[in-house]
Amino acid sequence: MMYDVSSVLKTEGESLSVSGKVEFSQNSLSGAGPFFGDDVCFDGTITNIGNVLEFKASVKGSFKVLCARCTKELDKTFDIDFTEMLVNSTDDISDKDAVLIFEGHEVDLDDIIESNILVNLSLKYLCSDDCKGLCPVCGADRNLTDCSCGQDEIDPRMAGLKNLLIDD
Ligand SMILES: [Zn+2]
Ligand SMILES: [Zn+2]
Repeated sequence: MMYDVSSVLKTEGESLSVSGKVEFSQNSLSGAGPFFGDDVCFDGTITNIGNVLEFKASVKGSFKVLCARCTKELDKTFDIDFTEMLVNSTDDISDKDAVLIFEGHEVDLDDIIESNILVNLSLKYLCSDDCKGLCPVCGADRNLTDCSCGQDEIDPRMAGLKNLLIDD
C-alpha cells in the first residue's frame, strides 16, 4: 500500500503515525515458505529528520514454514523492530546505499516492511533440534518410522542428495 508522506516532507521535525496490515508481494503457497498469515501488522512513525525521513516500525505476525529436514509444516510467530531511512528521489543524496529512495510524495511501506521481515527470519527452521529428517532412499519420515533402508543400499546417484539432506 502506498502511504502519502506529503505532510512530513517539507518540515523538519514533523512526524506521521502509520499502521496497518502488511500485504506481501511474494507469499506463494509453493516451495518452502515462509507463508505469512493475514495477521501480520505493523505500527510505526515516519519522521522528517532533515532531508531524510526516518521510518521506525515494529511488525509482528504469524507464518508457516516447513521443517528443513522432514518438511513438516511449522507454525511460527515473529516480532521485529527496524529503522529505515527514506529519501525523496529529487533530493541530493551522497550515500545511496544507506537509504531507500522514493518517488513523489508516496512510499510503498509494504515493500520495505516485507524485506525487513525476510532479513530477520532464520534461513532454516527445524521441528526439533534432533529431527531425524526424511530417508533419502524411500522418503519415510524417520521421526515416525524406522525404514529398512541400510546405508549400503544407497544408490550412488542418490549419495549427493543424501549428503544434502544430512548436511546441516
Ligand atoms: Zn523435522
Ligand atoms: Zn528408507
